[in-house]
Amino acid sequence: MQPFTYARAVDPADAYTGVPQRTALLAGGTELLNWMRLGIEHPAHLLDISHLSGLKTIDTLDNSAGLRIGALATLNEIAEHPRIVNDYPVLAQACLKAASAQLRNLASIGGNLLQRTRCPYFRSLDALPCNKRTPGSGCAARHGINDKHAIFGWTDDCVAVQPSDPAVALAALDAEVVIASARGIRRVAADNFHTLPADELQRHNVLADDELITAIELHAAAPRSAYLKVRERESYEFALVSAAAAVELDGETIRTARIALGSVALRPWRLKEAERRLQGVSISALDIVRAAIEHEFQSARALPHNASKIVIAQNAALRALQLAAKQANGGMA
Ligand SMILES: Cc1cc2nc3c(=O)[nH]c(=O)nc-3n(C[C@H](O)[C@H](O)[C@H](O)COP(=O)(O)OP(=O)(O)OC[C@H]3O[C@@H](n4cnc5c(N)ncnc54)[C@H](O)[C@@H]3O)c2cc1C
Ligand code: SF4
Repeated sequence: MQPFTYARAVDPADAYTGVPQRTALLAGGTELLNWMRLGIEHPAHLLDISHLSGLKTIDTLDNSAGLRIGALATLNEIAEHPRIVNDYPVLAQACLKAASAQLRNLASIGGNLLQRTRCPYFRSLDALPCNKRTPGSGCAARHGINDKHAIFGWTDDCVAVQPSDPAVALAALDAEVVIASARGIRRVAADNFHTLPADELQRHNVLADDELITAIELHAAAPRSAYLKVRERESYEFALVSAAAAVELDGETIRTARIALGSVALRPWRLKEAERRLQGVSISALDIVRAAIEHEFQSARALPHNASKIVIAQNAALRALQLAAKQANGGMA
């Protein structure tokens, strides 16, 4: 690890005004310190933003229909917040299923969205071909071990997936990421926050170096929503596949459905065509619901070792939708 200086921010603007080159913002540190240990990041300065109390609160939005979650709110604080448990259970469940209890007490939601792929070649201590780590070096996973890699949106240059659980829930909720910089405030749909390899190979998301995530905004409540995480062991494990669903029903008839898959691409993957096909369908019409979901997988492409992820993802989407439909007024699935 290379030497670095440490300073504390006292105001959010400290994170984007007069910041020296090669400064990294430190929130919970659960990702950043690992990157420094692995040689993925070599900051010369750490600016600790973790004491900015204004970025920690969870408040009702001015129009009272939604919620503003400060970027430094921890995953456990979000998972336990009564409004989120009742009105956005998919997000509470996604946060609760991430990492371990100890990590969730430190891990901020802003830092969670900025986590990078867990591709073992990317995170290796040895120098292996990885275009994300060393541009132009190739992609060891493309023809190497790729059982946990992408089935959507990959290119020969990178087949990695984004591992965040909360990001999948936020995509299904049509949440917005609020971003501040010296240029002002901008909002990015959670669904558009992460980038695909074809967009810009070295990036994971659209945040610029001189920008600070200040909050996540949730809009209309989604009490009928649920998160399903498929993983190799039941706790403290990243998702093999996950699915977030939010549904509005008239009796048994689906008025609207929103479904996002996780760990299938380098960004949460919304099933927009399936959502359109599901409108007006009975949630009990299993064959029709399944067919609507499977139709979306015409664009899925398996790698040599991960064809099973296609079936798992189809089943996860269906099951999450059914869990969401059963979930009236919150409660944990
Ligand atoms: C062992 C382990 C298991 C895990 N399992 C899971 C899991 O199952 N599911 C899951 O979803 N996640 C998992 N995680 C990821 C974990 O949730 C993230 O590491 C954590 O949320 C990152 O938040 P942080 O506050 O610690 O970020 P930090 O490590 O402090 O920061 C990460 C990056 O974000 C930047 N940053 C942080 N906050 C801001 C901000 N507000 N604005 C701009 N830049 C910012 C930092 O500069 C840095 O580049 C796991 C992590 C570990 C170490
Ligand atoms: S999948 Fe992406 S992150 Fe993994 S080795 Fe290939 S280029 Fe690197």
